[in-house]
Amino acid sequence: MAWHINILTLFPEMFPGPLGQSLSGRALERGDWSYTALNIRDFATDRHKTVDDTPFGGGAGMVMRPDVIEKALLSLPQPGRRIYMSPRGRVLDQRLVEELAALPALTVLCGRYEGVDQRVLDACEFEEVSIGDYVLSGGEPAAMILMDACIRLLAGVMGNAATPDEESFAASTGGLLEYPHYTRPAEWRTADGRTLDVPDILRSGDHAKVEQWRRDQALALTRARRPDLLKK
Ligand code: SAH
Repeated sequence: MAWHINILTLFPEMFPGPLGQSLSGRALERGDWSYTALNIRDFATDRHKTVDDTPFGGGAGMVMRPDVIEKALLSLPQPGRRIYMSPRGRVLDQRLVEELAALPALTVLCGRYEGVDQRVLDACEFEEVSIGDYVLSGGEPAAMILMDACIRLLAGVMGNAATPDEESFAASTGGLLEYPHYTRPAEWRTADGRTLDVPDILRSGDHAKVEQWRRDQALALTRARRPDLLKK
């Protein structure tokens, strides 16, 4: 069964955006995944099509209305798991990506302005997911990042089916960062005249040694850069 994602947004024309290119774009054409981008504004009930209003308690910015978002959500035949892209959320990691990619359907709500009324998050059981400790102007780029990470895990999307679970953070490689890569030329002369070689072991043809070297490199890199991952 193909993977389906519903997106609730004020800017549906942003999708598929970059996901229409390259691997994810071809997978979309093949029908390996599909999306519905609903314009929240279509569910506004007043003649001005109001989707936001000033915050109770005062303060800067506008807040997206709960009633309009609920109507948009209820119009979906199969919403599945509901996610609100939000800097306050659980930070997206490969484990959550693997979980979401395995679902038949999910719905992602993209905020704008100051965000959305708390009541719709509670009433409609949206889980909050963040893409990192910085603030975007809208949830759409965050949703695209979540989608990209999920889509590349779908069966058949990557040319070489073995690739996704060999990469950084994959549970199957112990959640480590990936080892360094090298390709031709084997001897590279830089513009400033240095000659840089590829580690000998990678050209030795000894697969067991290569595997061991890669594991050692992955572990050393993870220890140096992301000791927090080793604790996990
Ligand atoms: N007032 C909010 C920020 C709103 S930013 C706060 O201070 O927490 C507007 C919208 O961008 C949010 O509703 C959310 O959907 C999206 N967004 C911003 N930063 C994000 C992040 N790090 N991860 C996921 N979504 C984010």
